[in-house]
Amino acid sequence: MGAAALPPAAELAGGPGWQAIDFVSDLHLSSAQPRTFAAFDAYLRGTRADAVLVLGDLFEFWPGDDAIELPFERAVFAALRAAAQRRFVGLMVGNRDFLLRPAFVQAQGLQPLPDPSCLLAFGRRVLLSHGDALCLGDAAYQQFRRWARDPATQAQFLARPLPERIALGATVRHASEAGRQAAPPPGGWGDIDFDAALACLREAAAPTLVHGHTHRPGDDALAPDRERRVLSDWDFDQDPARAGVLRLSATGFVRLAPAEA
Ligand code: MN
Repeated sequence: MGAAALPPAAELAGGPGWQAIDFVSDLHLSSAQPRTFAAFDAYLRGTRADAVLVLGDLFEFWPGDDAIELPFERAVFAALRAAAQRRFVGLMVGNRDFLLRPAFVQAQGLQPLPDPSCLLAFGRRVLLSHGDALCLGDAAYQQFRRWARDPATQAQFLARPLPERIALGATVRHASEAGRQAAPPPGGWGDIDFDAALACLREAAAPTLVHGHTHRPGDDALAPDRERRVLSDWDFDQDPARAGVLRLSATGFVRLAPAEA
């Protein structure tokens, strides 16, 4: 047996009065995509959910917590802080915004969610993860991930001036997007490793995994008693727009458009 793909899940207990919990991910917010942020802001103001759990890649890129000085990033957190005054807002980081520190997230009035977390609500256990750590078929990405998550790498990166970090982030993203256009592997871009996901579900005693990252929303049985539900990415700056909200209530999961949530 190799090492588990994910560390043990942190438990998150739903609030006593909660009737609806929303999951969203992969908004990839950036100042270059103002309509996507406008749609997310409208969703945060309008949703009837008692909790909104963002499961990674809220931002297209987060260069470090001093990015809160930038107007767009400041506006995003202002919207989240306002939402958190009316309902629980939890934030997990993804592969784009993992430099968001838990203490910073907490100082913004949001609940940082470790990856993975196990939500306990409506008598269910639901395992929550961004998903990139489970994409074991992409060995080059996993190697990059280990390097990028290394505290020494991060300390070196964060020692650079903010404009330099923003420029470096754009360079890395363009290189990875160019690589994607060059060589789609057979079967398309990587999915999570089902065996690793099943091992994590069993360890968490959870029948359901909710994850994002792959941008291919859908529900799949992984075993007779285990399933995964994949979140949609959001993009209102393309035509047609893409977005989705997965909602859990006492009666189960439903998928909604942000405007009907
Ligand atoms: Mn991602």
